[in-house]
Amino acid sequence: MTAVTAAQAGLLACHACGLVHRAGHAAHDLDCARCGASLHFRKPDSIARSWALLVAAYVLIIPANLLPVMETGSLFGSEVDTIMSGVIFLWTSGSWPLAVIVFIASIAVPFSKLGALTYLLVSVQRRSTWAPKERTRLYRVLERVGRWSMIDIYVAAILTALVQFGGLMSIKAGPGAIAFGTVVVLTMFAAESFDPRLIWDTTEGKNGR
Ligand SMILES: [Zn+2]
Repeated sequence: MTAVTAAQAGLLACHACGLVHRAGHAAHDLDCARCGASLHFRKPDSIARSWALLVAAYVLIIPANLLPVMETGSLFGSEVDTIMSGVIFLWTSGSWPLAVIVFIASIAVPFSKLGALTYLLVSVQRRSTWAPKERTRLYRVLERVGRWSMIDIYVAAILTALVQFGGLMSIKAGPGAIAFGTVVVLTMFAAESFDPRLIWDTTEGKNGR
């Protein structure tokens, strides 16, 4: 195969407007001729930025799961729920489809995203040449799934269930909800900072330039 990457050919595209520039191999402090955005072959400090955001997400996912995400008050007293206790409550009260949705959106998806992004970062840092196509596909899924893990899914599901049970006086978001929302946003930015072209750089290098 004689495929040449744009970077090897000294070409780089503006990340803002897409205009392709011929820059040679040492492109630093260059601005786009059309829109003025700064040009770079790969997202600058991609790995370091992704790691920083990812570590912050790892730290915050602990309070997100241990602190109450919701405090509800009724005539019969008040109750605080963590994500997991909410899932268990939904399950035991017979709303098992809601329990499954909340579990996937609030527990399975966020943890899988952190795991997948960690794997991508480690594999790129180790200059792995294994299954670049599959890893690129994993990244694409990761980006797309970001829109699915949103706190409002959880809140809406719990509220629907609670309203059905009646006798509800007050609902308040707990500190866990803030932590959870932050984890979702941090993970989205971490995935955004990661440059999937890094996956291919080691593979292309191995084939000889
Ligand atoms: Zn531009």
